[in-house]
Amino acid sequence: MGIGARYGLDSKPRHGAPHVSLTTPYDPQNIFAQIIRGDAPCYKLYEDDDVLAFLDLFPQSYGHALVIPKRSAACNILDVDTDALCKVMAVVQKLARVIVEELQPDGVQVAQFNGAPAGQTVFHIHVHIVPRYSGEGLGIHAAGKADPAELEKLQARLVSKLAESEH
Ligand code: 5GP
Repeated sequence: MGIGARYGLDSKPRHGAPHVSLTTPYDPQNIFAQIIRGDAPCYKLYEDDDVLAFLDLFPQSYGHALVIPKRSAACNILDVDTDALCKVMAVVQKLARVIVEELQPDGVQVAQFNGAPAGQTVFHIHVHIVPRYSGEGLGIHAAGKADPAELEKLQARLVSKLAESEH
Protein backbone atom coordinates (compact mmCIF):
# COMPACT_ATOMS: atom_id res chain seq x y z
CA MET A 1 0.00 0.00 0.00
CA GLY A 2 1.41 3.43 -0.89
CA ILE A 3 1.56 6.47 1.36
CA GLY A 4 -1.24 8.23 -0.55
CA ALA A 5 -3.66 5.37 0.06
CA ARG A 6 -2.67 4.95 3.71
CA TYR A 7 -3.28 8.57 4.58
CA GLY A 8 -5.87 9.72 2.03
CA LEU A 9 -3.39 12.38 0.95
CA ASP A 10 -4.59 15.47 -0.79
CA SER A 11 -1.80 15.81 -3.31
CA LYS A 12 -1.84 19.57 -3.89
CA PRO A 13 1.69 20.97 -3.74
CA ARG A 14 2.37 23.37 -0.87
CA HIS A 15 3.52 26.94 -1.23
CA GLY A 16 7.26 27.26 -1.91
CA ALA A 17 9.54 27.54 1.12
CA PRO A 18 10.90 31.01 1.84
CA HIS A 19 14.55 31.41 1.00
CA VAL A 20 16.03 31.42 4.46
CA SER A 21 19.79 31.22 4.81
CA LEU A 22 21.73 29.66 7.67
CA THR A 23 22.16 33.07 9.27
CA THR A 24 18.62 34.46 8.88
CA PRO A 25 17.38 35.41 12.37
CA TYR A 26 14.81 33.21 14.14
CA ASP A 27 11.21 34.16 13.33
CA PRO A 28 8.97 33.68 16.39
CA GLN A 29 5.95 33.48 14.07
CA ASN A 30 7.13 30.23 12.41
CA ILE A 31 4.57 27.42 12.61
CA PHE A 32 6.48 25.32 15.16
CA ALA A 33 6.86 28.32 17.49
CA GLN A 34 3.08 28.79 17.18
CA ILE A 35 2.55 25.11 18.04
CA ILE A 36 4.81 25.40 21.11
CA ARG A 37 2.85 28.45 22.32
CA GLY A 38 -0.43 26.63 21.75
CA ASP A 39 -1.44 29.14 19.06
CA ALA A 40 -1.60 26.41 16.40
CA PRO A 41 -2.79 22.81 16.80
CA CYS A 42 -0.79 19.63 16.42
CA TYR A 43 -1.25 15.87 16.75
CA LYS A 44 0.88 15.67 19.87
CA LEU A 45 2.75 12.45 20.66
CA TYR A 46 4.98 13.48 23.55
CA GLU A 47 5.74 16.57 25.64
CA ASP A 48 7.94 17.41 28.59
CA ASP A 49 9.40 20.70 29.83
CA ASP A 50 12.00 20.83 27.08
CA VAL A 51 10.80 18.77 24.12
CA LEU A 52 7.66 18.37 22.02
CA ALA A 53 6.95 15.62 19.48
CA PHE A 54 4.02 15.51 17.05
CA LEU A 55 2.93 14.02 13.74
CA ASP A 56 4.01 15.66 10.51
CA LEU A 57 0.94 17.17 8.80
CA PHE A 58 2.40 16.54 5.34
CA PRO A 59 3.91 13.11 5.99
CA GLN A 60 6.39 11.37 3.75
CA SER A 61 5.60 7.96 5.21
CA TYR A 62 3.10 6.37 7.58
CA GLY A 63 4.13 7.44 11.07
CA HIS A 64 6.29 10.43 10.06
CA ALA A 65 6.91 12.38 13.28
CA LEU A 66 8.81 15.52 14.28
CA VAL A 67 10.70 16.27 17.49
CA ILE A 68 11.52 19.85 18.51
CA PRO A 69 13.08 21.73 21.42
CA LYS A 70 10.56 23.97 23.22
CA ARG A 71 12.87 26.44 24.91
CA SER A 72 15.49 27.04 22.24
CA ALA A 73 14.68 29.76 19.71
CA ALA A 74 17.04 28.17 17.19
CA CYS A 75 16.59 27.83 13.45
CA ASN A 76 19.03 24.98 12.94
CA ILE A 77 21.74 22.70 14.29
CA LEU A 78 24.33 25.47 14.10
CA ASP A 79 22.61 27.75 16.57
CA VAL A 80 20.78 25.36 18.89
CA ASP A 81 21.94 25.05 22.47
CA THR A 82 23.79 21.71 22.84
CA ASP A 83 21.92 20.69 25.96
CA ALA A 84 18.57 21.29 24.20
CA LEU A 85 19.76 19.24 21.24
CA CYS A 86 20.74 16.32 23.50
CA LYS A 87 17.28 16.36 25.09
CA VAL A 88 15.67 16.33 21.65
CA MET A 89 17.80 13.37 20.55
CA ALA A 90 16.88 11.37 23.66
CA VAL A 91 13.21 11.79 22.72
CA VAL A 92 13.97 10.95 19.08
CA GLN A 93 15.38 7.62 20.22
CA LYS A 94 12.49 6.90 22.59
CA LEU A 95 9.87 7.75 19.95
CA ALA A 96 11.67 5.91 17.15
CA ARG A 97 11.60 2.77 19.29
CA VAL A 98 7.87 3.19 19.95
CA ILE A 99 7.10 3.87 16.27
CA VAL A 100 9.05 0.79 15.21
CA GLU A 101 7.34 -1.38 17.82
CA GLU A 102 3.85 -0.17 16.95
CA LEU A 103 4.02 0.26 13.17
CA GLN A 104 6.59 -2.45 12.38
CA PRO A 105 8.33 -0.62 9.54
CA ASP A 106 11.29 -2.31 7.85
CA GLY A 107 13.54 0.67 8.50
CA VAL A 108 13.50 4.10 10.08
CA GLN A 109 15.14 7.29 8.84
CA VAL A 110 16.15 10.02 11.24
CA ALA A 111 16.77 13.28 9.37
CA GLN A 112 17.47 16.90 10.09
CA PHE A 113 17.82 19.71 7.49
CA ASN A 114 19.51 23.09 7.85
CA GLY A 115 18.77 26.00 5.50
CA ALA A 116 16.42 26.12 2.52
CA PRO A 117 18.96 24.68 0.04
CA ALA A 118 19.32 21.64 2.33
CA GLY A 119 15.57 21.07 2.26
CA GLN A 120 14.52 22.94 5.40
CA THR A 121 11.07 24.51 5.12
CA VAL A 122 10.25 25.34 8.76
CA PHE A 123 12.90 27.38 10.51
CA HIS A 124 12.68 26.10 14.07
CA ILE A 125 15.15 23.23 14.47
CA HIS A 126 13.48 19.80 14.29
CA VAL A 127 14.33 16.16 13.75
CA HIS A 128 12.27 13.95 11.44
CA ILE A 129 11.49 10.33 12.29
CA VAL A 130 10.42 8.67 9.06
CA PRO A 131 9.47 4.98 9.19
CA ARG A 132 10.32 3.16 5.95
CA TYR A 133 8.40 0.21 4.55
CA SER A 134 9.99 -2.18 2.05
CA GLY A 135 8.74 -1.50 -1.45
CA GLU A 136 7.22 1.89 -0.54
CA GLY A 137 8.84 5.07 -1.80
CA LEU A 138 8.83 8.31 0.15
CA GLY A 139 6.05 10.86 -0.32
CA ILE A 140 7.09 14.29 -1.57
CA HIS A 141 8.67 16.40 1.18
CA ALA A 142 6.19 18.76 2.89
CA ALA A 143 3.65 18.33 0.08
CA GLY A 144 0.51 16.21 0.67
CA LYS A 145 -1.67 17.02 3.68
CA ALA A 146 -2.80 13.88 5.53
CA ASP A 147 -6.43 13.11 6.34
CA PRO A 148 -7.10 14.34 9.91
CA ALA A 149 -9.00 11.13 10.76
CA GLU A 150 -5.95 9.02 9.84
CA LEU A 151 -3.65 11.30 11.85
CA GLU A 152 -5.95 11.00 14.87
CA LYS A 153 -5.91 7.19 14.67
CA LEU A 154 -2.16 7.13 14.33
CA GLN A 155 -1.75 9.58 17.23
CA ALA A 156 -3.93 7.38 19.45
CA ARG A 157 -1.90 4.25 18.60
CA LEU A 158 1.46 5.90 19.22
CA VAL A 159 0.44 7.73 22.40
CA SER A 160 -0.90 4.49 23.82
CA LYS A 161 2.24 2.54 22.88
CA LEU A 162 4.41 5.27 24.38
CA ALA A 163 2.46 5.09 27.66
CA GLU A 164 2.88 1.28 27.66
CA SER A 165 6.62 1.62 27.07
CA GLU A 166 6.96 3.91 30.06
CA HIS A 167 5.58 1.35 32.53
P1 5GP B 1 11.76 20.67 7.04
O1 5GP B 1 11.39 20.77 5.60
O2 5GP B 1 11.91 22.04 7.59
O3 5GP B 1 12.90 19.76 7.35
O4 5GP B 1 10.52 20.00 7.76
C1 5GP B 1 9.38 20.68 8.13
C2 5GP B 1 8.31 19.65 8.25
O5 5GP B 1 7.20 20.25 8.88
C3 5GP B 1 7.83 19.09 6.91
O6 5GP B 1 7.98 17.70 6.90
C4 5GP B 1 6.38 19.53 6.84
O7 5GP B 1 5.57 18.55 6.26
C5 5GP B 1 6.03 19.76 8.28
N1 5GP B 1 5.02 20.78 8.51
C6 5GP B 1 4.87 21.95 7.87
N2 5GP B 1 3.86 22.65 8.39
C7 5GP B 1 3.36 21.89 9.41
C8 5GP B 1 2.30 22.09 10.33
O8 5GP B 1 1.59 23.09 10.34
N3 5GP B 1 2.09 21.11 11.24
C9 5GP B 1 2.86 19.96 11.25
N4 5GP B 1 2.57 19.05 12.19
N5 5GP B 1 3.86 19.75 10.39
C10 5GP B 1 4.11 20.70 9.47
